[in-house]
Amino acid sequence: MIKNYITLLQSNDLKATIQRTSILKSIDQAGHISVDEIYEEVKELHPTLSLATIYKNITLMQENNVIVEVPINGQKSKYELKKDDHMHLICQVCGTIQDREIRPEAKEALVVENFQLNSSKINLYGVCQSCQNR
Ligand SMILES: [Zn+2]
Ligand SMILES: [Zn+2]
Repeated sequence: MIKNYITLLQSNDLKATIQRTSILKSIDQAGHISVDEIYEEVKELHPTLSLATIYKNITLMQENNVIVEVPINGQKSKYELKKDDHMHLICQVCGTIQDREIRPEAKEALVVENFQLNSSKINLYGVCQSCQNR
């Protein structure tokens, strides 16, 4: 995982502001996080930062491919740092999201004739290991 947020921003044509690096740090540490949760964390360090500013920066970083939105059924979207295509295992009991690599044979199954696939987002909904053991 990329820890150098300044380089990450600059290599995607964005100025490395303290707001942006703070947001990236929250996202990186959480793995997947909603805007409200980012706001709660960033507010601790930068009390003057408004929710509107956070939204603006998130939209911008999304447009510049630094972060990606993870839409989740029945929940607010979460955000993660841009990574290789992967699938999400979403626990419907505790809400945790785990990243999993998409197996090559599953990728092959996604090939559709006459359609150029650029990216795939796969969300699997179920019950995670620790909730199963409860
Ligand atoms: Zn769970
Ligand atoms: Zn993910």
